[in-house]
Amino acid sequence: MQKKKIRCLIKYENVALDVDNYKVLLPLKSGWSNNSLVTCTNCGELFVIDWENPETEKLSLKQIAGSTLCPSCNVVLSMHLANYPATIKISENQFGSFDDESIPNEDEGSEIVEFYELRPHQKDL
Ligand SMILES: [Zn+2]
Repeated sequence: MQKKKIRCLIKYENVALDVDNYKVLLPLKSGWSNNSLVTCTNCGELFVIDWENPETEKLSLKQIAGSTLCPSCNVVLSMHLANYPATIKISENQFGSFDDESIPNEDEGSEIVEFYELRPHQKDL
């Protein structure tokens, strides 16, 4: 699976009861980019979806994932995907959640982070 580097805000937030200062990655939004992150609910691997890519136009998350297997844990991703950071896999039995609406879209404190890029019709694992 190809990787893609995107600029993210790095925040340390409370994402679940008793889980503070948890690292949360939030893709920066700008005029020319519309990236969102999704997570494998089985292992917590993160993937970026580029919604500006014509390939992803009008497709749902499940359609984009298709039969792609998670490169980290090998499950069929379409069955194990959730929007991140609304869903954050913290550990084996624990999920957290974070609402990024309250975070200003500012460049300060951002870093380039590399993620697997989830694209439709991908069979080159
Ligand atoms: Zn996985």
